[in-house]
Amino acid sequence: MRLTTLKNTTNEETTVCITGASGFIASHAVKQLLEKGYKVKGTVRGDASKYPYLTELPGASERLELVQANLLTEGAFDKVVEGCEFVLHTASPYIVNVKDPQTELVDPAVKGTTNVLKSCAKANSVKRVVLTSSVAAITDEPSNDKVFTESDWNTLSSLKRNPYYYSKAQAEQSAWDFVNNQKAGFDLVVINPFVVIGPSLGPALNESNKIFKDMLSGAYPTIMSLHWGIVDVRDVATAHVLAMETASASGRYLVSNEVMKMTDVVALLKANGFSKYNLPKVNLACKTGDKVMKALSYTQPKGSGTYLRSHLGRKMQYDNSKVKQDLGIQFIAAKDSIIETINDLIKWDHLPAKS
Ligand code: NAP
Repeated sequence: MRLTTLKNTTNEETTVCITGASGFIASHAVKQLLEKGYKVKGTVRGDASKYPYLTELPGASERLELVQANLLTEGAFDKVVEGCEFVLHTASPYIVNVKDPQTELVDPAVKGTTNVLKSCAKANSVKRVVLTSSVAAITDEPSNDKVFTESDWNTLSSLKRNPYYYSKAQAEQSAWDFVNNQKAGFDLVVINPFVVIGPSLGPALNESNKIFKDMLSGAYPTIMSLHWGIVDVRDVATAHVLAMETASASGRYLVSNEVMKMTDVVALLKANGFSKYNLPKVNLACKTGDKVMKALSYTQPKGSGTYLRSHLGRKMQYDNSKVKQDLGIQFIAAKDSIIETINDLIKWDHLPAKS
């Protein structure tokens, strides 16, 4: 099903449900939805008092309702999505290293997605679901010879190889299967972001911002030939809101700005006064270094180990023109996002202040 007209209610009359409202990306989407005047129902796992960074947002006391729901509880979203025109399904575990990938990653991602979609199908009010997928559903193996687009699918990940990537590919596939095989009554638009960084509204340390905490705290002893597609969390939130509001939006949207090499990220941090932190010192971003790091990757936790083996020495290249053209996204420069991220990590005490 494709939407042909925009909603015919005002924002003030429109209720948007967002799952995992407490999350790094979702909390920015909540903020933007409230700024635009929408009524927002956010699902969380804890008591509403745990989320002052949501309940104290401008407009929240009048238009934000937080409801408890767990992805794995059958029917948990039935009541929540009732009366909502749009559902942004962002909740999913984002953890690289887990003990049991099936129960900790794949079940909440896949069963959670179908659980939410079943509830949307039962409620006659839902017109569109915007699903937060990932570039992880596009590939887990960058290539020096290929430019990835929305038409690519990650078919390599498994419970043993990059299980987080596997959970995202499986969850997105199950969402497309659901809307294509059933009379869902709503359409689906998917957002596929890459490494999402930027200021956090809440105190939790997100897995992607943690890359920068680790880089400044000595967790990376060497510079490796890794490439990251960087996108600011505020742009990802905007992409969700625009994907919801733009009637002609359709399919998948690869949402990422520039690719940066780890070598260039370290140089950027040095040039911006972060040299006193414990930055990686030895440069192993070369073919011999790749061999050394691949051998050492077997000493790492499984999730990080498979990530290193599938990414070292491979340049990530992708085409982000669809989201710019269809949704008019103008990305925040990656360098600005990185510096803001570090300052935000300091603000939340994830890193010591610059001395
Ligand atoms: P996050 O801050 O960890 O948010 C994840 C959210 O999912 C949290 O609100 C969490 O609730 C919720 N959640 C996890 N398991 C749940 C369960 N069993 N039941 C109900 N809620 C559950 O991570 P994020 O980066 O904002 O991720 C949001 C989405 O973006 C995820 O789908 C992730 O895969 C995707 N994504 C993230 C990135 C990135 O670089 N950050 C890149 C691409 C895609 P609690 O607060 O209770 O834990």
